[in-house]
Amino acid sequence: MKVIEKYNDSQHNPSWKYQLGPDVYEVKDTPLRVEAIKKSLQADQQFEFLTAKPFPERLITRLHPYHDYIKNTALSLQNDEQEFYPDLFPGEGAHCKKRSDSPLWGGIWCTDAVTPIKRKTYEVARASAETALTGAELIRDGHEKTVYALCRPSGHHAGPRVFGGYCYFNNVAVAAEYLLPEGKVAIVDIDYHHGNGTQEFFDNIKSVFTASIHGDPDDEYPYFWGYADEKGQGQARGTNHNEPLPKGTQLAQYSKALARILDKVRKFKPAYLIISAGFDTHETDPIGGFKLRTEDYFAIGKQFQSMGIPTLVCQEGGYNIDVLGECVKNFLLGLSYHKCC
Ligand SMILES: [Zn+2]
Repeated sequence: MKVIEKYNDSQHNPSWKYQLGPDVYEVKDTPLRVEAIKKSLQADQQFEFLTAKPFPERLITRLHPYHDYIKNTALSLQNDEQEFYPDLFPGEGAHCKKRSDSPLWGGIWCTDAVTPIKRKTYEVARASAETALTGAELIRDGHEKTVYALCRPSGHHAGPRVFGGYCYFNNVAVAAEYLLPEGKVAIVDIDYHHGNGTQEFFDNIKSVFTASIHGDPDDEYPYFWGYADEKGQGQARGTNHNEPLPKGTQLAQYSKALARILDKVRKFKPAYLIISAGFDTHETDPIGGFKLRTEDYFAIGKQFQSMGIPTLVCQEGGYNIDVLGECVKNFLLGLSYHKCC
């Protein structure tokens, strides 16, 4: 299986930390995550690494009105250590000027104050989108049946209006738009957190089916999206499906919910499948609440394999770096599993 990567993303290392009573909250998205995944996959000869290609900026700008804001803010920083956190949010009813010429306007374009911009953030986020695009091109041209794009930063919380949740550009949305001229696309998000950005991108578009299986947003980020009654809008009604699950969910319950999603995907008959693959569903993940074990990801990958659709996997979350690499590897091995003889 081809693994697409771009280059060292070590310069995008947010340092946000916040102490509330005895609890310390901090950004868990470190460059060590990519290193852990690479180490696991490189130890197995089934995986062949390819460097992502450059793609025109317009493939990203056409989806992200805040593209220039992120780029300009990154360019305005003086050194690699400095980081800017959007911290002024206009709220509903304000006279919003959609400007991107100063870091000040971050609250218009970003949902939270935990998604900082550093000097290299634009470059790294763009490379992450290009990683997904390179994978999309390989499956579009029929060269590969299944490709894994080792994206970082993640993308699924970045939407058509705002970015946030450690995400800048929506990698799977960029890949889906790229594939759409060739046929319908289904996107299934298995990160612990609902893929709100992805859902919003395609909420009105009936040629893209979106689904997400995640921790119940009553208790978990992103809180304001991810409920079972969100089914798509207008003509696209019926092309979104959410499976919010309770804390403590184990494989048996998880697999049943995933089977309901895959059943709907089959009925939708997409030409391509994109998986937003997060592994913060692992029982030891510091911010997830499910109880999936390392070996469970092989079974989950196999459930997808049974679909037989050209598939692009894009990396999203997963924050226990001691198990992340093995979880990704097990998932990809399940996904490319062939029964012999
Ligand atoms: Zn997540």
